[in-house]
Amino acid sequence: MAQLGDLLQQVRVTPKHIDDYIPIVGEKRINKLKKLAKPLKNKRLLNLNATAYGGGVAELLKTQVALMQNLGLDVDWYVMNAKPEFYEVTKTFHNNMQGHPGTLSEEQKKIYLEGVKQNAKGMVENYDFIIIHDPQPLAMLDYTTAPTGKWIWRCHIDTSEPNQDTWNFLYPYMKKYDAVIFTLDEFVKDGVQLNNLTFIPPSIDPLSPKNSEMAEEEVNKLMYSYNVDPDRPIIVQVSRFDPWKDPLGVIDVYRNIKKDIKGIQLILVGSMAHDDPEGWIVYDRVMRKAGEDFDIHVYTNFHNVGDVGVKAFQCAADVILQKSLKEGFGLTVAEGLWKSKPVIGGKAGGIKIQIKDGENGFLVTSIQEATEKTLYLLQNPEIAQNMGKTGKELVRERFLSIREIEDHLILFNKLQKEPCSTAFCST
Ligand code: UDP
Repeated sequence: MAQLGDLLQQVRVTPKHIDDYIPIVGEKRINKLKKLAKPLKNKRLLNLNATAYGGGVAELLKTQVALMQNLGLDVDWYVMNAKPEFYEVTKTFHNNMQGHPGTLSEEQKKIYLEGVKQNAKGMVENYDFIIIHDPQPLAMLDYTTAPTGKWIWRCHIDTSEPNQDTWNFLYPYMKKYDAVIFTLDEFVKDGVQLNNLTFIPPSIDPLSPKNSEMAEEEVNKLMYSYNVDPDRPIIVQVSRFDPWKDPLGVIDVYRNIKKDIKGIQLILVGSMAHDDPEGWIVYDRVMRKAGEDFDIHVYTNFHNVGDVGVKAFQCAADVILQKSLKEGFGLTVAEGLWKSKPVIGGKAGGIKIQIKDGENGFLVTSIQEATEKTLYLLQNPEIAQNMGKTGKELVRERFLSIREIEDHLILFNKLQKEPCSTAFCST
């Protein structure tokens, strides 16, 4: 039995059935998944991350945990629990790993390691695979005392140009893992040596409340309830309030096109993630910039905008923006494309593998470019519609949960055959 320390909290997920996905991806792909899962039956898998709500990792785990359970693996999901200063430090890691300048102080390192150490108490026994998500619990491997199986570090952020000081602090921990997963090969610099380095892009769940079908009437009803007029043009960005997502740049784009597109409305939806202390600061800046313009609608989970609300906004949009400056993947891009909407995304990280420039949206590098492309799509609705349809098929092919689970099962099967490289390995 697993014995997890008091600070770690278990997250329960709603059960899901793999066969429900047959109408979406076909029986062949589901059978392949079942075949890959067979040798892993009853294997114990632990997922550990920093938050059960807000942001992409929580979104991914809700589906992956449930579907892997349904495929016969014995899967747990736990989240860390730490003091606010711990999350201040780990948000600095996040920003620095995406290229923010600065040097970590000894005090920051101490706060981080102490937080991990506290969470590691009592962790863990008898897991065959442990997936540690992102930098927050990365050092856990150094503090756990129990012998366990294969340790996998899954990095979800854009480390294409990391701050070297922070990378140097975290790299020795990464090196101890049996396998390390990044989203893209460009996130790993030449010369980096990690065991079983694997690249797996994230994915969305087509049957989740956020991505399942929604009738137009229902969408419109929700729009009215949020004071948005569904009959006027709508542009939307759904993102945490994070400087890398550039919500202020999106307001600039909206202002630039306002004179050309009569009645245009901008919707910014952003959840406040438990592990993101910067959220409220960025939110305040957004509100100041939006000022008295009531056609800019800013909503958060505190306004009761949950999965269905996000879906309704994505469905109501004429154009979806994801104007990120750095982006690990950007689930919101796949979510938008799945709703058959063209997406204009910052030419960054994982957005580049989702948007085929000019086919299902546009990749942009400036406010000016984002303005031109948004205007173009709003003025050419037929082209926009066709791009949206193309985008949905790309997501079906490459960015649904089925493919991501398949990639993980392939890795687990491979690791199962290898001796461990961690000091705590019992197999
Ligand atoms: N999200 C949400 N409500 C919000 C803002 C974001 O549910 O107000 C979800 C969004 O739909 C997506 C995830 O949070 O599923 C964000 O993932 P993404 O990869 O785009 O960015 P991250 O937050 O991981 O950097």
